[in-house]
Amino acid sequence: MARRRLVYEGKAKILYEGPEPGTLIQHFKDDTTAGNGTRKEVIEGKGVLNNRISEHIMGGLNAIGVPTHFIRRLNMREQLVRAVEMIPLEIVVRNLAAGSFSQRLGIEEGTQLPRPIIEFYLKDDKLGDPLVTEEHIIAFNWASQQDIDDIIALALRVNDFLSGLFLGVGIRLVDFKIETGRIWEGDYARIVVADEISPDSCRLWDIKTGRKLDKDVFRRQLGSLSDAYSEVATRLGIMPMPGEEKAGNRRGPKLVH
Ligand code: ADP
Ligand code: UDP
Repeated sequence: MARRRLVYEGKAKILYEGPEPGTLIQHFKDDTTAGNGTRKEVIEGKGVLNNRISEHIMGGLNAIGVPTHFIRRLNMREQLVRAVEMIPLEIVVRNLAAGSFSQRLGIEEGTQLPRPIIEFYLKDDKLGDPLVTEEHIIAFNWASQQDIDDIIALALRVNDFLSGLFLGVGIRLVDFKIETGRIWEGDYARIVVADEISPDSCRLWDIKTGRKLDKDVFRRQLGSLSDAYSEVATRLGIMPMPGEEKAGNRRGPKLVH
């Protein structure tokens, strides 16, 4: 393959210049980090699973008219995306209390929230991605009030789509993080979902057993992360069921009653 210009290497992905102007190739690595990069391991196959799961989710969002950067998957580890002007925020949507929210507010993990709660974190590893308010975002010009309104509307649509998608395969969407960016069309900037949506950035609990099927398996050392992510991919119907690995055996989602 021809040498490609590296644009950025992060903790979990690499961005290369894409084949056409305004495009990037997003490469999913097996590197897995927790505690803002303080713990790091290579988990074989994780990048392949996240590439497929994120393709499935972003493709679904595009199909229902929620704009994303995703264009198409190129191979096992790479997808073609539109280059966007990243907004330096991590947007977290929560349906049940968990993780830092439970710790900060003393609300037991698993408590159903009265409505989806949206939080903003500044994307800055050196500062440990601090929680910020709309006041901070506007005062420091990370995004405008209009951008924030658009981001909230987008985040709620993603929440509804993902909650339904996972509910159909017996998985509760506890919370998730998205990143967004601007695509300029003349003087008008459209906000789109960028980065990835995968078990690295969602909390996913089996509805019947409560088994964790997300990155908490790594963060809390609960077992095999690739087994958990494979289970998600299998249930979504994008990886063959065990024993059905033959080509052409792709199935639809595994309905869980
Ligand atoms: P991190 O930077 O937190 O270590 P990753 O390893 O996932 O994270 O790196 C991917 C980087 O690519 C992130 O910084 C993300 O903000 C950025 N990114 C994701 N999608 C796009 C896009 N469409 N255009 C430009 N940058 C993007
Ligand atoms: N999250 C993420 N990247 C981050 C921080 C959080 O993808 O840098 C996701 C995380 O997987 C979870 C949600 O955002 O689905 C909320 O995370 P929380 O604030 O509870 O943080 P944590 O407990 O992971 O520190």
